[in-house]
Amino acid sequence: MKYLKKFFKHLHTVNKHRFLVFKLCIKAGIPWRGFVHDLSKYSPTEFFESVKYYTGDRSPIMLAKLDIGYSKAWLHHKGRNKHHYEYWYDYSLSKPEVVMPLKYFKEMVCDNLAAGITYQGKNWSKEYQLSYWNKVKDNARMDERLKKLLTKIYTDISIYGINKVLNKKNLNTLYKESMKGE
Ligand SMILES: [Zn+2]
Repeated sequence: MKYLKKFFKHLHTVNKHRFLVFKLCIKAGIPWRGFVHDLSKYSPTEFFESVKYYTGDRSPIMLAKLDIGYSKAWLHHKGRNKHHYEYWYDYSLSKPEVVMPLKYFKEMVCDNLAAGITYQGKNWSKEYQLSYWNKVKDNARMDERLKKLLTKIYTDISIYGINKVLNKKNLNTLYKESMKGE
């Protein structure tokens, strides 16, 4: 693919993703988080690596990792974006998985749903996020209570759909309850 084409295709992917996350974040009661979601993807470090590895059907970050063993874009991204649980992981702490604050936890849910909807396209169904999460959760370095909460949220979505589950009151209540568990 020509460089200029990859440039604009990647720009479109980022814009489209941000718009979908924005719409979901409004439902979740965090419009500002939705508005500023993933802005670091426009930084040169993140943007140009992803243009270089753009194919349209695979994650450029994954392709960079396969090519040179790591992705500078990802290291840059997770170090600045609090909606990634990797941001909150500090191996030097006695409890390395710092609990994600509510607003970033909700932004992560919106981000995950948006990614699933985009990558699955017509094949997306409300059960998708739960089955994906079940495959990756054992490797996630996230507070156990938040892991359980994600399982609960994605299970509810698999039964009732996004609109019934992704609202401010429900998410806030579930988060509060899950934190009482200790
Ligand atoms: Zn992100």
